[in-house]
Amino acid sequence: MTETVRPPEVDRIAASRKAVAARRARASIKKDLATRVVTPQEVLRRAAADASSASGTLRVPEFLTSLPAIGQGKRDRILEELQIAPVKRLGGLGARQRAALEAWLDARFPEPAPRPGRSSLVVLAGPTAVGKGTVAAYIREHNPEVMLSVSATTRAPRPGEEEGRHYFFVDDAEFDRMVADGELLEWATVHGRHRYGTPRGPIDRAVAEGRPVLLEIDIQGAFQVRASEPRANLVFLLPPSWDELVDRLVGRGTEDAEEQARRLRTARAELAAQGEFDFRVVNEDVAEAARQVVDLMQASAR
Ligand code: 5GP
Repeated sequence: MTETVRPPEVDRIAASRKAVAARRARASIKKDLATRVVTPQEVLRRAAADASSASGTLRVPEFLTSLPAIGQGKRDRILEELQIAPVKRLGGLGARQRAALEAWLDARFPEPAPRPGRSSLVVLAGPTAVGKGTVAAYIREHNPEVMLSVSATTRAPRPGEEEGRHYFFVDDAEFDRMVADGELLEWATVHGRHRYGTPRGPIDRAVAEGRPVLLEIDIQGAFQVRASEPRANLVFLLPPSWDELVDRLVGRGTEDAEEQARRLRTARAELAAQGEFDFRVVNEDVAEAARQVVDLMQASAR
């Protein structure tokens, strides 16, 4: 009779803690896939880089059903088509299987490719609470060569906000006039409340001088800028994970529960728009995210 060798108690506790943490990490990736915080191709790349990571140990069927609009029936057909056994984990795929899965993902969920002939105009957008304002403020502080556009808004100033530095605070009649006179490059009603718009003049002047220009605006505004300035770079700022976005929104404590729920619904819809942006930057660390945005501007200006 063979005797089962039991690990000492402490080892078992440590192992089970590790298993719980790994399960949590996989659940978090599935949420990030479902909410499009991360692209499936990116998860596949992480799995290939490290088979023992949370992405690497994620089973292929679970990976597939986390993707938007893939149910169990579709999942089974895809596995069959790609000849991948349902027990397979992402990090355990053979080179041929990985290539087949990647090709299928590229056809189904294309990743945006940077378009050539960019201008030094960069639009920074992203879901609510992702930290666009913080990244823009960091750039204002550390990169004086960048012209940060100052928007006009119909909302009232918050404590500490200065006219002409943070916003031009205008009333409804003045905003109407700016729209009518074509003074705004784009404008939108944000969160269903106040109007915000980008004055065109300062931007035209800075672009003519070849100066990098940064617009920190909402997603609707970003698409309007592309419509009138097709060479603008649209950058989508992403949270490191969906859970982190929820924490930032709740932690900020500036909105009540109902408003938080509304903004999270908006954030989900906003995340779905990221595929139409030219670049994506993850806001894990503000200084690093800011550096990536500035690098993009400098690369475009060359
Ligand atoms: P806040 O009121 O917190 O300063 O800004 C609310 C939202 O308005 C942010 O998402 C910000 O990106 C957006 N926003 C600020 N300025 C503009 C603008 O000129 N145009 C558009 N479309 N959105 C803006």
